[in-house]
Order: sequence, then structure tokens, then C-alpha cells
Amino acid sequence: MECDRCKQDIKPGDEHEHLGKTLCEDCCMIALSPLKTCDPWAVHSAKNFEKSAGKNRTLTPIQSQMLKLLEEKGAMEPAQLLVELGSDLQIKDLEREFATLRHMEKVRGEKQGEKVLWRLW
Ligand SMILES: [Zn+2]
Repeated sequence: MECDRCKQDIKPGDEHEHLGKTLCEDCCMIALSPLKTCDPWAVHSAKNFEKSAGKNRTLTPIQSQMLKLLEEKGAMEPAQLLVELGSDLQIKDLEREFATLRHMEKVRGEKQGEKVLWRLW
């Protein structure tokens, strides 16, 4: 009998079934507790990432620039904001940033006649 994971021989009676695979004692323990075998720093930063992915996460440079421009110059059309930013972003990228900011309730779109303006929340 051979372990499906590390390919070592398993003594008869020592094999473990896990999710349809035959594992040796060691691999079974790893499979059952994946977090414990990870680098503690990896777990640590994963937790921090979760935290920072929450509502109060810090803004990317482009996002804070967008907010600053909307604050200084008032509502404007996406295309105009793109020009004001003076970056080589595509409008699609900008819309993605806008969507993120909108989720954070920092900006919103506003219809003005035919146009849609972006403004601070
Ligand atoms: Zn194994």
C-alpha cells in the first residue's frame, strides 16, 4: 500500500482514508489540519489581509486621488476624471476603482440628464 500524497509505503493497518485518497499517518494529519502545518507567518499575514480587506481598508493611491479630485473639483463624468487623473488607466480600470469606492460608500454615481456624474457620497 502506497500513500497517495508522499508515495511512501504504508504499513498494513496504518493507512488512512481521506477524501477518497489513501494517506499515511503523517499526510493524514497534514490533510486534516492544513493551517497548523503552514508557516505561522503565512497564517498571520492571511489574517491581517482579511482584516484589511474589510470596510476600513486603506485606499490605493489611485482611489485616494479620485476622492481628492472629486472633493476639489466636484462631481464630474468618468471620462473627465480620467483626464484629471492624468494616468494611463483605461476607463474600465477606473470604473473598477469606482465600484470599490462605491462599496465603501465614498462615492456614488448621479444621473444628470443624459450624463452620469461621479461624486462624493
Ligand atoms: Zn504520506
